[in-house]
Amino acid sequence: MDNTFQLSFEQDLNFNYSYQSIDNLSEYGKYELSFHPERPKYLDYISIFDVVEPCLESDEFGACLIQTHRAELEGIPIMLIGQQSGPSSNYTDLLESLKDPETVRTWNHGMPVPASYERAVKAIQLAEEEQRVIIIFVDTPGADPTEQSEANGIAWRIGDTIHALADVKVPTISLIMNRACSGGAIALTGTDVTMAMEHSTYLVITPEACSSILFHTRSRANEAAEASQITSKEGYIHGIVDELIPEPNGPAHRNKQQTLASVKTVLREYVMNDSDFDPKTIFEKRVDRWKKIGHWEEIDPSELTSFHHPVTRLPVPESSGYVKRHVKCYDTDGNRHYDPVSIKKLQKTNYVCGVCGHRYVRPSAWDYINWIVDDDSFSEHDETKLIADKDILGFPGYVEKLKETRRKTGLVSAMITGNGIILGRDVVLCATDFGFLGGSFCMSTGEKVWRAAQIAIDRMVPLILQAAGGGARMHEGCSSMVSIPKAHVAISCVENAGLPVVTLITDPTLGGVAIGMASRGKQLFEFNAGHIGFSGKRVIEQYTGKKTSKGFQTVDWLKKHGHAERIIHPKDLRDVIYSLIKSEN
Ligand SMILES: [Zn+2]
Repeated sequence: MDNTFQLSFEQDLNFNYSYQSIDNLSEYGKYELSFHPERPKYLDYISIFDVVEPCLESDEFGACLIQTHRAELEGIPIMLIGQQSGPSSNYTDLLESLKDPETVRTWNHGMPVPASYERAVKAIQLAEEEQRVIIIFVDTPGADPTEQSEANGIAWRIGDTIHALADVKVPTISLIMNRACSGGAIALTGTDVTMAMEHSTYLVITPEACSSILFHTRSRANEAAEASQITSKEGYIHGIVDELIPEPNGPAHRNKQQTLASVKTVLREYVMNDSDFDPKTIFEKRVDRWKKIGHWEEIDPSELTSFHHPVTRLPVPESSGYVKRHVKCYDTDGNRHYDPVSIKKLQKTNYVCGVCGHRYVRPSAWDYINWIVDDDSFSEHDETKLIADKDILGFPGYVEKLKETRRKTGLVSAMITGNGIILGRDVVLCATDFGFLGGSFCMSTGEKVWRAAQIAIDRMVPLILQAAGGGARMHEGCSSMVSIPKAHVAISCVENAGLPVVTLITDPTLGGVAIGMASRGKQLFEFNAGHIGFSGKRVIEQYTGKKTSKGFQTVDWLKKHGHAERIIHPKDLRDVIYSLIKSEN
């Protein structure tokens, strides 16, 4: 008899794989089920297609984590792109292959690296050249959190993948097979339709990591999973999954052939009835779909006036022109510094301590607005100013947090959009405030970028985006993350209208912010900024057990690795943006 793997609940005599039995599992149990090692993987699913042949093969590290094949379904040409999260779905074979350290290294725990996404982008381009429907199979615990992947630009490679899917002129389908977690998965779900296996999960952060943020311990992962609503079924209810593919009674890993047949039926029907190769129709349908993604609410105008006002976070010097030195300032010899600092010197270094590199302030959205557009030229859009965050999950403490943050920042949400003028030229500007829940990317941000982009197109003016934030907002679960491709589609609409897009990347720009709007347009990097990339320094150090190198994820480090060409001091922003938008249009 075959050696099989059993999750703890599978050993329970009362558990019988019926629909009811699975429904009764804890949210964490459902999570575990979604990546049961014997669930079919991409290389199992390709057997449902005809004339399958591998393409874009490479020996590069990571290329096997996203594989690509030409194929046909009912005679229609297909490009298959699949995340293959491990060597096999046969448990005996899996155990055997994992005895070899080189195989373990090759499969990298199912976490794609920049080369994996480069392969995906090439396949998307090839599909357009060869007029193939793109079908993507998604299964990953997340993208690779290492310094090496950051040095190879993982944030921008994931951004390129979402960008390519937003622009490609062939129909695109994604299918979540097992576990689709974090930016590593969202890279591949910015498609025209997202399908999911009945027992798969679609989530922004692992329940363990969510638990450690929420409760300061990894042991309350089930509560974190329940609060985040991580199953694809819940994603379907929230409108981020279009179609659930039924699994046989007794799920995919015990009934592989029936599962594959179920997937084939759904895909065949979609490909035969809904695949249209007219580029204009494809893009119009795509825009229609993404327009509807996300949830938000409109705040009452009288409530808005009670807190809405510009806030600055820049230090104000004493009459002497000096500000208090930050606490715990030590030089490299371990000497502590106490003396006040001249504001002129601080402005010169863009508020970074010249002794130890500590950042004095993270400027507010209004500070960036004042740096970027001409004095008094900014007027907030009526179309976006009432859009407020919605607590769709009933996430613990979210509503209270929003209220408190609105009072503190004077903003309705993390983003403010408006019309402005740069040295006499009209622009639309979207500014983000790190003070608003860490600037985290959420559904309201996606919607604000969407509307601002439409305004830029209506007025035929450039779109300027200032990015800041530590990632996607956990309190909105996976829906926050699905707003990232929405922003990409919005930006593609602006570019398709022939209008310039300029993005300012500030401290910090990580995760969902980096792979979203920050990876688009002509990128400017704020002078002396740090914390720019995909995974944060702490996550990487925890995962690898090693300290990151000096200057890690600063603009100079990014430049050294070829990811930051234009590094701009705030005082020069207006002139530089003007020169970029003047040269076009
Ligand atoms: Zn210092």
